[in-house]
Amino acid sequence: MEIKKGIAVSPGISIGKSLIIDSEDYRIPRRSIRPSHRMAEIQRVRNAFTEAISELTQLEEAQDQTEGSRIKDIFAVHLRFLRDRSLRRKITDLIHAESVTAEYAVSTTLRQIATHFRNVKDAYITERAADIYDIERRLLRQLLGRRREDVEHLSEEVVIVARELSPTQTAGFNREYVKGLATDAGGRTSHTAIVARSLGIPAVVALEDLTEIVGGGDVVIIDGNRGIVIVNPDEETVRQYEEYSREFAELEHKLDAIKGEPAVTRDGVIITLLGNIEFPEEAGVVLEKGGDGIGLYRTEFLYLNSPSEPTEEEHYEAYAETVRVFKHRPVVIRTVDLGADKYTQSKRFAPEPNPFLGLRSIRFCLQNLTMFKTQLRAILRASLLGEVQVMFPLITNLQELMQAKFILRDVMEDLDEESIEYNKNIRIGIMIETPAAALTASTLARDVHFFSIGTNDLTQYTLAVDRGNELVSTLYSSADPAVLRLMRMVIQDAHKAQIDVAVCGEMASEPEYIMFLLGMGIRTLSLTPPMIPETKQIIRSVTIEECNNLARKILAMNSERQISSFLRNAARKILPEAF
Ligand code: PEP
Ligand code: MG
Repeated sequence: MEIKKGIAVSPGISIGKSLIIDSEDYRIPRRSIRPSHRMAEIQRVRNAFTEAISELTQLEEAQDQTEGSRIKDIFAVHLRFLRDRSLRRKITDLIHAESVTAEYAVSTTLRQIATHFRNVKDAYITERAADIYDIERRLLRQLLGRRREDVEHLSEEVVIVARELSPTQTAGFNREYVKGLATDAGGRTSHTAIVARSLGIPAVVALEDLTEIVGGGDVVIIDGNRGIVIVNPDEETVRQYEEYSREFAELEHKLDAIKGEPAVTRDGVIITLLGNIEFPEEAGVVLEKGGDGIGLYRTEFLYLNSPSEPTEEEHYEAYAETVRVFKHRPVVIRTVDLGADKYTQSKRFAPEPNPFLGLRSIRFCLQNLTMFKTQLRAILRASLLGEVQVMFPLITNLQELMQAKFILRDVMEDLDEESIEYNKNIRIGIMIETPAAALTASTLARDVHFFSIGTNDLTQYTLAVDRGNELVSTLYSSADPAVLRLMRMVIQDAHKAQIDVAVCGEMASEPEYIMFLLGMGIRTLSLTPPMIPETKQIIRSVTIEECNNLARKILAMNSERQISSFLRNAARKILPEAF
């Protein structure tokens, strides 16, 4: 049994057999074969070794003329392993004894050896573990060739273990079979984490070297509440987790019971709880969880999930489907936020050295006007169906906002000329996600109907910490005083200008921040749908006065640690079962 600590990004517990998708997309489930097929599998292992040896010999020879001896030495070490008969025998013995596939036998045997090396207290031998993984990959490449199986065609329940997953990959998982996710990379607000949360799949990220420890088919527990992953748990641990999982399900059930109740504080202040969605189908989940509308529709997923750029009709249909669910309630459609970690499938953008500081979001739209206008036309047409609002992401200065509004007006004129109707008074908002926007909020407020604070990016850009990079994930925290002070500034400026201000970053989905946000004057939260009931329960348990006191204390604190622990303790008192 091995226990790994990462970052909990999507709540819930799952226990299941692992399916590994490594960086090269190999998945090695445990597959049994008929005993009569064992010789054929053993022959495949032999062929894979022969091919790998020949490939490596050629590489080694090529090194003679080019690079120095260091690389040649590495190849020599790999060749020695591959020529070692006892290694091959271990693999073929496993096929004989357990009637499993060649891939599974290769992966399991080599990972066992690597784990053994990693545990030896000798730096030289520990480092050899990396060579073993290399050899594993080389052999798997030979074995799998074009036979990589598609994760979309699963037929049994699995928990996915991967070095990293893209938001699109995650969104494509079949929820019926994919019961949990664990990745080496990622951070709390990486888009993959966000997608896992909205799909309701328990997930833990930033596990650093989990993929090196887990073998395909190993039993894995994913504790998406505490950020723990347990590989090959003993019986007692499985029993404890099964019980914990039952308790957690009971809490969810209990909370679901209040979904029809209003989100009102004990002293009668009504809070609007909206949902964040990536796909129109999720609007139904928001409604079911007791949400009052959609506060953030991440429309770029329309692009990420399709082989070609969506047409105006496709945009319109997606928006119409969402609005149908919330006919007389707000549906805030955010214009596409492509770029950074959300590239289109065609990868037609040249790689940027710093994609999060590059051509993303509104900047990308302002340089791709045809695409931008197509979306705006669809949003405007859909505005007739309900309370549609439009929101521009990643605004950093007034000029950008003016440009975006100018294009919107242009599209309105086009529609007028074509006698196509739309809501002429559509509400326009911007996301406050950069320190630049926060610091100039009083200016920006004059030209919009509302702000929505995107705490994920605001934290990233304020602290200069990549939100998806596990190497700096401990530095990423929205509880940092710098982030909170910028937020206070934005909220105060919005109040002064008498415009609405909401929070739609993940902060609004985290129970510990709710009291603080109310205390800062926030009355609209937009959050991941599964967290709506819990958030409502917190709101219904507190008074605004309590929240004001808490916010005052927090804003006087200077350390992130102190703030985090204070917030956690306060929330734990209100909803102990959730912690
Ligand atoms: C944010 O940055 O807080 C936000 C809500 O937008 P996204 O997570 O899609 O970048
Ligand atoms: Mg953002």
